[in-house]
Amino acid sequence: MKETLKRLKNLLNLLTQDNFKYFHRVKNPHLTLQTLLSQLLPHLDEKRKNWTQKAINLLKNYNSLSEEDRKKLIKELHRVITLKFLEEEIESDLKKEIRPSERIVVSQEKLQKKKSYPIKAFFQPIEKVKGVTEKRAKRLKKLGINTVLDAIYYLPYRYEDRTSVTKMSQLKPNTTALVKGKVTAVSVIETSKKKKKLLKAILYDKTGYVNLIFLQEKVINYYKAILSKAKELDKEVLAYGNVKREIGGYSMIHPEIEVLDKNKKLSKLGKILPIYHTAEGLNQTTVRRDVQSVAKQVIPFLPEYLPEKIIKKHNFPKSYEAFWNVHFPSDEDANALLEFKSPSQKRVIFDELFLFQLALALHKRKIKEEKGISFSITESLIDEFKKHLPFKLTNAQERVLKEIVEDMKSPEPMNRLVQGDVGSGKTVVAAAAAFFAAKGGYQTAVMAPTEILANQHFKKFNEFLKPFGVRVGLLTGSMTKKEKETVYRAIKEGFLQVVVGTHALIQENVEFKNLGLTIIDEQHRFGVKQRLALRKKGSMPDTLVMTATPIPRTLAMTAYGDLDISVIDELPAGRKPIKTKIIFDDEREKLINFLKKELSAGNRVYIVYPLIEESEKLELKAATEMFHYWEEKLKGFSVGLLHGRMKQEEKDAVMEKFKTGEYQVLVSTTVIEVGVDVPEATVMVIEHAERFGLAQLHQLRGRVGRGDRQSYCFLVTSRKVGEDAVKRLRVLEETTDGFKIAEADLKFRGPGEIFGTRQSGLGDFKVADLTRDFELLKTARQEAQELIEKDDLSNYPDLKELLEQRFGEKFELIESG
Ligand code: ADP
Ligand code: MG
Repeated sequence: MKETLKRLKNLLNLLTQDNFKYFHRVKNPHLTLQTLLSQLLPHLDEKRKNWTQKAINLLKNYNSLSEEDRKKLIKELHRVITLKFLEEEIESDLKKEIRPSERIVVSQEKLQKKKSYPIKAFFQPIEKVKGVTEKRAKRLKKLGINTVLDAIYYLPYRYEDRTSVTKMSQLKPNTTALVKGKVTAVSVIETSKKKKKLLKAILYDKTGYVNLIFLQEKVINYYKAILSKAKELDKEVLAYGNVKREIGGYSMIHPEIEVLDKNKKLSKLGKILPIYHTAEGLNQTTVRRDVQSVAKQVIPFLPEYLPEKIIKKHNFPKSYEAFWNVHFPSDEDANALLEFKSPSQKRVIFDELFLFQLALALHKRKIKEEKGISFSITESLIDEFKKHLPFKLTNAQERVLKEIVEDMKSPEPMNRLVQGDVGSGKTVVAAAAAFFAAKGGYQTAVMAPTEILANQHFKKFNEFLKPFGVRVGLLTGSMTKKEKETVYRAIKEGFLQVVVGTHALIQENVEFKNLGLTIIDEQHRFGVKQRLALRKKGSMPDTLVMTATPIPRTLAMTAYGDLDISVIDELPAGRKPIKTKIIFDDEREKLINFLKKELSAGNRVYIVYPLIEESEKLELKAATEMFHYWEEKLKGFSVGLLHGRMKQEEKDAVMEKFKTGEYQVLVSTTVIEVGVDVPEATVMVIEHAERFGLAQLHQLRGRVGRGDRQSYCFLVTSRKVGEDAVKRLRVLEETTDGFKIAEADLKFRGPGEIFGTRQSGLGDFKVADLTRDFELLKTARQEAQELIEKDDLSNYPDLKELLEQRFGEKFELIESG
């Protein structure tokens, strides 16, 4: 804290020094200032906190301020911080926060290592464990624990520290604390209302007191006896519970209590208590007892399955020690434990990530070992393709194309991901690959997640490939049976050289004559399995995966660990950055006026609403309502409506009218997320912006700014959504860099959001948390790669078994690795 304040003061001194002499030397001072101020926040009293929060908000608009105003703001910050943020004062506040060092710790049962069993023994059903009755087995299965190993892996998701004693004077309301003191004034009180009884006792130490309160009739006598006896013998009592502020001081209602007695071991307090996820109808105590009873018996027999080298290098505890400590934590590193950073937790988290990375690495290697197609792609063929383009490829496109060409020429099957922001021009690169394949006599399948996107790709591929006479076809689920059958035949006979489609492409009846290349767009909506399914339509075709969601490196490594990655990190020249602004509900009038101005100038406007999924009727109603609202507000301009319940032809017709300008405004649910290019569209209005993920908003924003006119994006939200939601949206105001936005999304909403749903099978680790465990992920990835480079897993039979058990099915192919 002191350090932060010092840095803050130094920076402000520097900025204001000698009448702002060095002001221009510091790049983006507002970002650093915001960070430092945010770091201070938790340490401040209410008044300073309010002021600081205001300052942070002002700094957010820093970029839009004139230089003069910027200096004014900095000067004011400097004045207040130097005058009102005195170190000693804040320091004394801070001291209040420091927890007392007294800890009460009961020694825990130690691990007694037994002779190791092979890991296979742990795949046995849970019923095999002694003491697992039919009833207990049933409960365990409710938690998803079927095998012995499942029980070991059923790890606590948090811990309660029941060892650190808080002094009475430092109790804070609405926190959970352990206190120690002596008892006085034990009394049963009859409450005035309803004639109910309650037990109240006062627990005090040198610094203050807390009321212990028990309400349930049946426990009153029990606790009364214990507390009275402790009072009589002048013994110290521990109480653990939630602290409430009430008239007459702090209270704990129904705390856990235990009397300190030299001759008796504490049972519930003086421990760090693991908390497990429960299931319906099961309480924490039962779950803990069930899981721990199995864990206690079997962990001592657990073999060490990781290579000795890895354990030594990272100073990891052995498998059995790690799992033991996680289920039966001792006090050595209480603070680390609470943050999931104890050596044992790290080891356990590492194991999970390592196994997953190993599976990916093996998958990758397996593909590389197959004999794929070696396309012959000459320079002149590449030039031929480029010559027919209406534009020059960007450097990034050139680079990525080269990487793809290298892959295609090599006999190793290509397995490559192309990442690139919306509008960075991935399609043309993919079309080039399809062109090369066609020239080599092979077919290409292009799979997209939605019909509309499949349609768009179909048009685009046609545009790029028609000049060369390459025959492109379309296959989607909404086609009639007859239409489909015609396409099936054209695919089977090899008449179609490129087929663009949806999931319909991986249906059983689709047979290719000679599939040589698969291109998959928006990969994160498909699982590994679908990728494999498409690949299986050919014999080892090359695979190209495209994603417009820039994925933070963290996640790319996890999700796409089996792919080589290419990045198109440059937009075609001449694009103007889109101006983005948050609009609150009460500023609508201003927005509407602005829209009218843009429309009068001949530009077009998108208005997007979040998808309403509850029911068809509701969605229709909502869509129609918002359509009328905008028709009314933008009288004189023609408004079109697009929503998810329309038929494909209807959608296409509306889209077409917007494209030609017959509609100037398009009110739409998110179906345009991956919609059609309309260069005249310059304004994107997103209603209820707070309901979208940042990455999704970024995608939507990418629908404008496709021509050379200045474009705008308005994120409409309400002031009621709260500070955090607005803070999240600010990210979009501040940057257009998709990677930065994705990082922010990851931070704010976690990995699940970026990948849409859980169905992708990512982010569903049992213990690892990608946001928290990034460093471990990097380590795990590196170790996995090193291991399979140098070693054959046959040296580690237990590791191999474990890998197969956990990921064998998911990747379908580790068994032969
Ligand atoms: P993405 O699929 O990456 O979002 P597209 O491939 O759809 O982007 O390209 C966006 C638009 O930019 C398209 O209209 C495309 O024709 C055009 N485009 C692609 N590459 C270039 C380039 N190098 N120069 C100019 N325009 C380009
Ligand atoms: Mg695209």
